[in-house]
Amino acid sequence: MSVPSSPSKDFIREIIDEDLSSGKHDSTVTRFPPEPNGYLHIGHAKSICLNFGIAEEYGGRCHLRFDDTNPSKEDVEYVDSIKEDIQWLGFDWGDHLYFASDYFDKLYKWAKHLIDEGKAYVDDQTFDEIRKGRGDLTTPGTDSPFRDRSAEENLELFKAMKKGEFDDGSKVLRAKIDMAHPNLNMRDPILYRIARAHHHRTGDEWCIYPMYDFTHGQSDALEYVTHSLCTLEFENHRPLYEWFLDNLPVPSQPRQIEFSRLNLNYTVMSKRKLLQLVEDNHVNGWDDPRMPTISGLRRRGYPPEAIRNFCKTIGITKFQSTNDMALLESGVRDVLNRDARRFMAVLDPLKVVITNYPEGQSEEIETVANPENPDAGMRHFSFSREIYIERDDFMEDPPKKYFRLSPGNEVRLRNAYFIKCEEVIKDADGNITELHCTYDTDTPRGENPSDGRKVKGVVHWVSAAHSVDATVRLYDRLFSVESPDSAEGTFLDHLNPDSLTEMPNAKLEGNLAGVPNGETVQFERLGYFCVDKESSAENRVFNRTVGLRDSWAKVKAKS
Ligand code: ATP
Ligand code: MG
Repeated sequence: MSVPSSPSKDFIREIIDEDLSSGKHDSTVTRFPPEPNGYLHIGHAKSICLNFGIAEEYGGRCHLRFDDTNPSKEDVEYVDSIKEDIQWLGFDWGDHLYFASDYFDKLYKWAKHLIDEGKAYVDDQTFDEIRKGRGDLTTPGTDSPFRDRSAEENLELFKAMKKGEFDDGSKVLRAKIDMAHPNLNMRDPILYRIARAHHHRTGDEWCIYPMYDFTHGQSDALEYVTHSLCTLEFENHRPLYEWFLDNLPVPSQPRQIEFSRLNLNYTVMSKRKLLQLVEDNHVNGWDDPRMPTISGLRRRGYPPEAIRNFCKTIGITKFQSTNDMALLESGVRDVLNRDARRFMAVLDPLKVVITNYPEGQSEEIETVANPENPDAGMRHFSFSREIYIERDDFMEDPPKKYFRLSPGNEVRLRNAYFIKCEEVIKDADGNITELHCTYDTDTPRGENPSDGRKVKGVVHWVSAAHSVDATVRLYDRLFSVESPDSAEGTFLDHLNPDSLTEMPNAKLEGNLAGVPNGETVQFERLGYFCVDKESSAENRVFNRTVGLRDSWAKVKAKS
């Protein structure tokens, strides 16, 4: 088969190239093997892009296999969300959807095979005793007093374990390898445990469950996986994985290759910690737009293309590193700058009355929907006597270099006229409630006045009579330190208290009423915003995906 050419291939693709050109394999089979005990996160996206990407590039196939050997933590909700997220990222497993639980019968037979061969035994020690007996990196383990049971006795006991004759945790099946092996994973690892737990697929059929290590490699072999790609923490499980392949009548010999995990700054990536954030209500569910989950990023408005590009940019290596969230965000901006339709919205409105504009009149303004994409066509919106501008685009007593609106000063309204502030209206407490301005009829849509005067400030606005109300949620980093995992205290001590700011009184350009849920658009001058799933015609909700520029770079530079 042909090998796709690329100037800089990662080490895994180089291995695959060799295996194809040497004739070791004539096609590739990879798999993505999530455990259905949580939602997928951006780290999983790296593995998904690698495994499904290889299948696409080499004309091979990639399986989706749920490694569901730990029923107490697993759930169909997770199975469904994982499928949805992979498809949303743009990948497809076709007919190749598998569950490790499909192999429970086979694995049980293989366990008996090891017993027959004198390579597995039933151990009556407690988990604690087993752990102590394993020794550590400097001390060899000690043999279990049950290690020398006969194959017949082991077989009877193992069958009785399966029949439910023993209590949970009272016996385990162990491989008989080497209690003095320098690799702790090889010191008679546990193969089966007794656990009366309801399984999301096999129900109550089993009361013994195979361990992950006894399942993973054999599942790969049963599926004829050629290259079993996993993260570095499995490197020292590889000898065990290979021991099983060598000692069982498996139909194929997959090769395990490890690569480094994706880590991102300003967030956490372990499923256990993400679950804790959800369960303790630090966020509003797995798909909270502040979460590094795929569903959270989707709800935040990230395009799947930006996530795929990010995974491609960081590449595949064996080096442990932490990637910069700013890199991901900058890729999100690149895609959205190209694709997002432009609109105007005012998040914190201040009313402006254009006193020399006739009451009851309005006019239509036409501009391009997206300057980066001529196919997006034109957009039309209204200008009228009363408009809203952003409260912080006005200062009553501005410092020297303030170019936005201030008393007596002139600015351009984006896509429309010059206005000049003539009067500031306040309530009894001295709060500014309204501005009275005049406009220059000579300056529509970006034209400069005939007398040649120029203004430096441009502010965005919406026509009050044509606006729609919305709540806009401004999201920021979930954690205020770069490495919440290694900072002092627990990761929860470093949650960013300002990670969510709600702007309940936003006024949107009327066109934004028609943007469908899930679309991400640009609010001019403000950033990219996505219609939230909770948005309705009565109660519009937008999420800020990302600002137009990296504001964190500035904050960091200052501090
Ligand atoms: P846990 O947090 O429970 O250890 P996990 O993150 O390893 O779980 P799995 O469901 O076992 O989750 O992962 C499925 C696949 O995704 C595995 O092959 C794993 O190596 C890979 N994976 C998980 N996290 C990352 C990451 N941060 N970067 C790259 N690949 C990852
Ligand atoms: Mg795992």
